[in-house]
Order: sequence, then C-alpha cells, then structure tokens
Amino acid sequence: ADAFNNLSATLDEAWAKMKGVADLSPENIKAPLKDVRRALLEADVSLPVVRRFIKKVEERAPGVKVTKGVEPSQELVKLVADELCTLMGGVGADGINFREEGNGPTVILMAGLQGVGKTTACGKLALSLKKQNKTCLLVATDVYRPAAIDQLKKLGSDLNVPVYDEGANASPPSIAANGVAEAKKRGDIDVVIVDTAGRLNIDEALMNELIATKMSTQADETLLVVDAMTGQEAATLTKSFADAIDITGAILTKLDGDTRGGAALSVREVSGKPIKFTGVGEKMDALDPFYPERMTSRILG
Ligand code: GDP
Repeated sequence: ADAFNNLSATLDEAWAKMKGVADLSPENIKAPLKDVRRALLEADVSLPVVRRFIKKVEERAPGVKVTKGVEPSQELVKLVADELCTLMGGVGADGINFREEGNGPTVILMAGLQGVGKTTACGKLALSLKKQNKTCLLVATDVYRPAAIDQLKKLGSDLNVPVYDEGANASPPSIAANGVAEAKKRGDIDVVIVDTAGRLNIDEALMNELIATKMSTQADETLLVVDAMTGQEAATLTKSFADAIDITGAILTKLDGDTRGGAALSVREVSGKPIKFTGVGEKMDALDPFYPERMTSRILG
C-alpha cells in the first residue's frame, strides 16, 4: 500500500495524462509510461533495464481489466508498482541459505570492488548472525588492501568474533581454504565469512582469484557487495561478477545516502539473484533485510 501511494503522488502528471480514458490500451498508456521511464532513469536504473521493464508493462497493460469505479490511471499505478516489486524479488526478506546441520560450517564469500563496503559488510553480517546465536569466523584475504586485514581484525575484536588471517603475503584462495579448515578444526563455528580480495576495477585476475577462492572453500553463498551510489554502472558491474562467479545474492550498501536506489532494480534484473541485505550506515548494526516494496517507492519517489 505504501508503494502504491508514493508512486501515485510522484507521477501525478503521468497519471493525469490518462484522464478520461476507459482502459489501458497501448495508446492510452503511451504518455504516462514515458514519465515512468524518465523517473526510473532519474533514479539511476540502467537504460537497458528500464527498456525491458517498460516493455513488460506495455505487454501486460492491455490485459488489465479496469475495475468498475476505479480510475484506469490507478490500475496503471498498481501495475507499475507490482511489476517493480516482482522484479525486485516479491515481498519478504531473503536470508542466508545455511548448510544443513552436521555438514560443517556454512561458508559465505563476500565479493566486490574496493571501497564498496565489503569489509564493513563482513562485520555487519557477523553481528547479525551473532544475534541469531550463530558463531562466526571472519577470514581476511584482501591482501591487495592490507588495511582491510587490520580493519577486519579490529571489527572482529570489537564484535568479539574470531578473525583468521595470514597477513598480506599469502594467496587469497589458500588463506580462505585454511580459514575454513581452521573453522572445522575448532568445531564451534557455524558460519565462515570470507572477506575476499577486492580490486579497484574488474579484471581477469580478480575473477580468476574469486573462482579459485570459491572452489577452495566450497562456498555456500557468494554475495556481491554493490555500492548503491554506483548508479547506472551497477548493471554492467553486476553482470561481470554474476557471469564469472555465479553469485547467489547481493548486498546493496550506502542506501543511507541520497541515492534513489535504482541500482537495486538493475542488480536484481541483471543477475536474477536476490538482494539479501542493505547497508544503511557505517555502524555495525546498520544492516537491514531488503524490502522490495520500500525500494519500489524509493525508486519512484
Ligand atoms: P571495502 O574496500 O569494500 O572493504 O570497503 P569498506 O568496508 O572499507 O568501506 C568503505 C567505506 O564505506 C568506509 O568508510 C565505510 O565506513 C563506508 N561504508 C560501508 N558501508 C556503508 C554504508 O552502508 N553506509 C555508509 N554511509 N557508509 C558505508
């Protein structure tokens, strides 16, 4: 209902263009959908994603039966909101897929470019799991940003979560594998969170290393950490990671900023994988589940 109201206020002009029409014929929805398209682009949804979205709405619209007493514009509002919500994963939060009991610790790889909030997200996830009575081991493999190792150790000590590291001179896939082995040896760890090695840009070396880390750890989850401020670029970036390392989901960070959050739609549409959490601040408790409905109103709002 939230999404519905906001949507309807924001695109007032768009819906006004439907005054007096009887149905959602291709002719009648042309002008308002132009405004919807503009709103999505302004929210930083990538252009190909916007195009595919509008096309979907155009295909569905003529089949919508206008209920007696309801303005056709309201039916279009609802269709747009529903489609956005569906595209972003439907209603409800998507958590971690835990490994079945007795099969060893669940392994989560956190992937992403430098500066997106990957290390921070590792700490946040550890805290959130700790609150669910899961014991975690953090594994520091970001050897290209040595400060990341100290940062993770500091987070671990603040959160009272153990951190496994081998300094900056070992190879990330081998550190990660040793970290998982350490967790198994300890026997009291439910979840291993691996802070993978990032880079400033996407390149083959990064992807090969991630593939190797994924194999060496038998990871259950590979979560792509994406900075919501990345805007339009989020789509191409997500595609590169999703194609190379078969991500299982994403964490969208920095949503406490003034971005409208169109990256959420791009990430989900391009990868087909759920956004599992959102980062909403620098503090360790600033991790929220992803709410498609809220994001729908934010993107259009
Ligand atoms: P990494 O290079 O990907 O590991 O990035 P870091 O975890 O070191 O984060 C980079 C910067 O972004 C740090 O200053 C973090 O405090 C900040 N940061 C991370 N997540 C968020 C978030 O959700 N909101 C805000 N405002 N800042 C964040």
